[in-house]
Amino acid sequence: MHITAHTQMVGIIGYPVRHSLSPIMHNSEFQRLGLDFVYLAWEVRPEHIGNAVQGLKALGARGFNVTVPHKQAVVAELDVLSEEAKAIGAVNTVRFEDGRAVGYNTDAEGWREDVETEVPLRGKTVCVIGAGGAARAVAVGAAQAGASPLLICNRRFETAEALGELLRHYFPHVEVQWSSLCGNHCRELVRSAQVVVNATPVGMVGKGGTPIPTQWLIPGQFVYDTIYTPAETQFLREARERGCHVRNGLGMLVRQGAKAFELWTGTAPSLENMEQTVRKALAT
Ligand code: NAP
Repeated sequence: MHITAHTQMVGIIGYPVRHSLSPIMHNSEFQRLGLDFVYLAWEVRPEHIGNAVQGLKALGARGFNVTVPHKQAVVAELDVLSEEAKAIGAVNTVRFEDGRAVGYNTDAEGWREDVETEVPLRGKTVCVIGAGGAARAVAVGAAQAGASPLLICNRRFETAEALGELLRHYFPHVEVQWSSLCGNHCRELVRSAQVVVNATPVGMVGKGGTPIPTQWLIPGQFVYDTIYTPAETQFLREARERGCHVRNGLGMLVRQGAKAFELWTGTAPSLENMEQTVRKALAT
C-alpha cells in the first residue's frame, strides 16, 4: 500500500473492533481500484464516542463505519441523519460533508439487496427475530421493499413493541405485529411467514443454540441468518435439514460495506472481489 501525504482516511469505530473484517475488505478494493484511501480500525470506549467523532472530523477523515456498541449512541454526535438512519434509529456509516457529520445506515439496503438476489420481498410476510440494531435495519429494509405483514419476535416484549410502533409510524401502509420470543403467538407468527430472519447474536461462534425452536419452521420457507461466523449456524443447518432455503449474512456484510465505500469515494466497488477477500480472510 502506497500511503502519501495525500492519502484519505476512513475506518471503523467499535468496542471491541479487532475482529472486524472491514479493513481487509475495503483496503483490498482501494488497492485494486488504485484509490488513494486507507481504512483503519479504531477501538473507541463508549465514553469517548463524542471525542472520536470530533477528532476524526478535525483530522479531515472522509468518514467512518460504526459498529457495536456505538450504532445508536453515535446518533447524538452527528449533525444530520439520512431518512433511513432516522427510521432505524442507528447509524453504521458516517460521511463528513462540508464540515458536517452526516449519518447513514447501509445495513437496511445491504440486507434487502442480498435477500432479493434470491427472493423478491414485495408482498412477502417477513418475520424478524430480534429487535436490536440489525433487526431494525432488516425490518426497515423489508418495509422499503414492500414486504407486508412484518412480524417482530423478541426476547424482551417491550423492545419488540418499540420496534413495532416505530415501523407503524414510518410505514403506516405496512401491517406490523409483534410478540415475545416464547409461546404460541411467536410460533404462529413464525409459521405464517415466508421469510424468517435471525437478527440476534444467538448462534455466533462460541455462542451456539438457535433463537427459536427450529421445529417451528416450515419446509420451503426462506431462512436468513445475519450471522456469517460460523458460515452455517445451528439455526441455518437445522432449517436446511427441514427443507428451508437458507442464506447467511455474508452478502449483507459485503453489500453494506460496498454502499459505505461508494458514499466515501464516489466509486462503486466490485461486490465479487469484496466477497472473495472476506471469504479468504474467514478461511485463514
Ligand atoms: P443488538 O443491537 O445488541 O441486538 C441484539 C438483539 O438480539 C436484541 O433484540 C436482543 O434481545 C437479542 N438477543 C441477544 N441475546 C439473545 C439471546 N440469548 N436470546 C434471544 N435473543 C437475544 O445487536 P445487533 O447489532 O442487532 O446484532 C445482532 C446480530 O446481527 C449480530 O450477530 C451481528 O453479527 C449481526 N449483524 C450482521 C450484520 C451483517 O452485515 N451481516 C450487520 C449487523 C449485525 P433483547 O432486546 O431481549 O435483549
